[in-house]
Amino acid sequence: MNGDLYRLVYYSRNMIVGNGQVLDAAITSILATSRVNNERVGVTGALMFNSGCFGQILEGPLTAVEAVFERIQQDDRHSDVSLLGFDQVPERAFGSWSMGYVGNSPRDADHFSLVGRDSGFDPSTMSGAALFETLLSLAIEEEHLTA
Ligand code: FAD
Repeated sequence: MNGDLYRLVYYSRNMIVGNGQVLDAAITSILATSRVNNERVGVTGALMFNSGCFGQILEGPLTAVEAVFERIQQDDRHSDVSLLGFDQVPERAFGSWSMGYVGNSPRDADHFSLVGRDSGFDPSTMSGAALFETLLSLAIEEEHLTA
């Protein structure tokens, strides 16, 4: 077991105003920056956006995860950043993704029935473990589909 491996789970409220194109451009930019920055410091994870909320998993060495999360909290593209979990873990769940993006396809709507499709994806009602499991199951399915 790697003694310096941590997993952080949070959700936040979207503050990006605009139509689908504006949102797509903003998320594309966030992902591009994240992938470059995270790879440099050994952070992996997944990001989800749905119904006005972000959910994100960050995994990596303690100081790297803390530094990335510190920057993320300062970002005015979202608000109400709420930490759901920050634990030492034996291994990475998203080892091949410097920052994957999940939950964006219509097909993924099925998954949201598990977490309340009518109310949309509302991570504020979820535990850290439940949000982690949701992103992981989406990631596994998307990796499988693109493999
Ligand atoms: P910069 O060079 O400062 O910016 C990179 C790009 O983002 C530029 O195109 C810039 O115009 C744009 N940008 C930066 N801040 C803003 C802003 N407030 N409003 C509009 N555009 C802006 N960063 C990571 O490194 N790893 C992550 O996993 C990660 N996840 C994120 C998840 C969410 C939900 C959000 C909202 C942001 C996330 N970020 C992440 C971005 C993070 O908040 C910082 O913007 C980024 O880390 C700054 O890195 P930089 O100094 O290299 O980029």
